[in-house]
Amino acid sequence: MIVTRFAPSPTGFLHIGGLRTALFSWLLARKNGGKFLLRIEDTDLSRNSEDAMKAILKAFDWVGMDYDGEVLYQSKRFDIYKQYINQLLSEGKAYKCYMSKEELDALREEQMAQKIRPHYDRRYRDFTGTPPVGISPVVRIKAPLEGVISFKDGVKGEINIAASEVDDFIIVRSDGTPTYNFVVAVDDALMGITDVIRGDDHLYNTPKQIVIYQALGFDFPRFNHVAMINNEQGKKLSKRDGATDVMEYKAQGFLPEALLNFLVRLGWSHGDQEIFSIEQMQELFDPKDINKSASSYSLDKLLWLNSYYIKESTNARLVVLLKDFGIDLQGNSKSDLILRATKERARTLIDLAGQICLLIESPKSYDEKAMKKVCKEDTRFILNDFISAIKSKSPKSKEAFHDLLQDFVAQKEIGFGKIAQPLRLALMGELSGAGLDEIMEIVGNDETIKRVEKFILAIS
Ligand code: GLU
Repeated sequence: MIVTRFAPSPTGFLHIGGLRTALFSWLLARKNGGKFLLRIEDTDLSRNSEDAMKAILKAFDWVGMDYDGEVLYQSKRFDIYKQYINQLLSEGKAYKCYMSKEELDALREEQMAQKIRPHYDRRYRDFTGTPPVGISPVVRIKAPLEGVISFKDGVKGEINIAASEVDDFIIVRSDGTPTYNFVVAVDDALMGITDVIRGDDHLYNTPKQIVIYQALGFDFPRFNHVAMINNEQGKKLSKRDGATDVMEYKAQGFLPEALLNFLVRLGWSHGDQEIFSIEQMQELFDPKDINKSASSYSLDKLLWLNSYYIKESTNARLVVLLKDFGIDLQGNSKSDLILRATKERARTLIDLAGQICLLIESPKSYDEKAMKKVCKEDTRFILNDFISAIKSKSPKSKEAFHDLLQDFVAQKEIGFGKIAQPLRLALMGELSGAGLDEIMEIVGNDETIKRVEKFILAIS
């Protein structure tokens, strides 16, 4: 069975880079009927993992990603790590090193002066003497002295590191706490992880983790190291570019399925398909299609996907979602008309809410530039006549408003723009938006007349 995991360090929130690797791992597990586990790497006890955990779960909940079993906290597993450390010590696969910080610094300086790579010289590896007093030792692993540490990375291909490149690294600090690579390897093994998908910033931890797996006699998982997400300029994605809290995307009016669709395409592809439902992602995702090169974040693409998914959403769902953006269409008899007229054009829910506002509230101001451009000497007379036309015909439907407009321009022998543009400004305050007939159907006769009268005053 395929078992994958997401193993965030609790940094306070889940950012989109993390969500992407979580998504890949989740898809791989779900595709294969396997398990997706969650592990919080909170061995640095000074951080508040409880809040971070809540933030991660909130984000998972929003995007609809579920995990199996209980969340595992590394901070609660120190006894387990100790047991494996003791095993390695008693088997002679790890040893205590009493080198002081000063001695280590001196060694490093000497090596640098000799222009060799600073490394630990294994001086306590086979030490049998009496340990120096007053020093709390660290524990180091006996890394292989020769040969090559190899693994096949699903994305990067064959990775070979000469054993001489890997020191006898520390697995327990002098304060007794186990180090990062040690606990990751132990946990991945004990959790039965078959496939690790993580950022390629961890690529060079992997040989160390393999040394641990081998010392403990564990099989190691398949690894997939995913290239970073860059910004559009090809530089590391910063907070300003969008490397921010997943929940910020919710606040900015993105739909979760748009964000997941966007993320799945950052570093993975299936032909030139761009739109993937969650079901399709689960069906098609395969780590072998993860791209080798870094992907680049494009806000335009995310907005494009978001507008697609807004358009695809049912009105009932949008009514619920819009409440968070200050729009309550619940029980509004025109909600379907309003959404039909607006959802085609909205790129975010904030955008949609803004467009709806323009329909349900009289404009607070008018686009001044547009006003100067479209309002001529005769505009207020034309608008006044249009009010009379509405009053005499009392149109109700979109079609009736359409006919009214057509008859009006024909009868007055004026170009359509002469009425349409000022009318648009009067109704919405700006020139863009839905079709005029749709707008008037939604706004209704009385309110249309009121808005036009108000506008006439503004231009008189
Ligand atoms: N805790 C690590 C991180 O947040 C992930 C380690 C891993 O996936 O192996 O970057």
